[in-house]
Amino acid sequence: MIEAEDIKPWLFRIEPFDGESLSHFLGRFRRANDLTPSGLGKAAGLGGAITRWEKFRFNPPPSHQQLENLAAVVGIDADRLVLMLPPAGVGMKMEPIRLCGACYAESPCHRIEWQFKETQGCNRHLLRLLSECPNCGARFKVPALWVDGWCHRCFTPFVEIVKLQKVFVN
Ligand SMILES: [Zn+2]
Ligand SMILES: [Zn+2]
Repeated sequence: MIEAEDIKPWLFRIEPFDGESLSHFLGRFRRANDLTPSGLGKAAGLGGAITRWEKFRFNPPPSHQQLENLAAVVGIDADRLVLMLPPAGVGMKMEPIRLCGACYAESPCHRIEWQFKETQGCNRHLLRLLSECPNCGARFKVPALWVDGWCHRCFTPFVEIVKLQKVFVN
């Protein structure tokens, strides 16, 4: 059981977005606190797990104890962290990293559901997910590295990418 006084008081907390993937959340948390993946892994007693999770490598899946350790450092309930992971039994695509620009315009984050194997398109916007920049063809970086919200090669903002997204026919 983790008590409130165990939560590291010197770290900045950040609020997760609805649907945000763990990779995107960890990247934001690390930058707010100037931590490397290994630095966060050390602070949480998780070794190299942070580096793996930022790349959606969830095999073996994070244990309850690991999530409690991370929860104590990021100041968010372990139950909330579970929502940033694929549900049990749902297959994950580690790559390519996918994106709906219309979703990103509403809520600037990478959504975990985009990496589910079964996810073909965005059901909210009825658009196909992009697996590379439609302007220059670059693959998207892992979401932990999405600092500016634009393509790292041609600088097209993710919020403008929606104009180049194709309609998704289910
Ligand atoms: Zn969408
Ligand atoms: Zn590009």
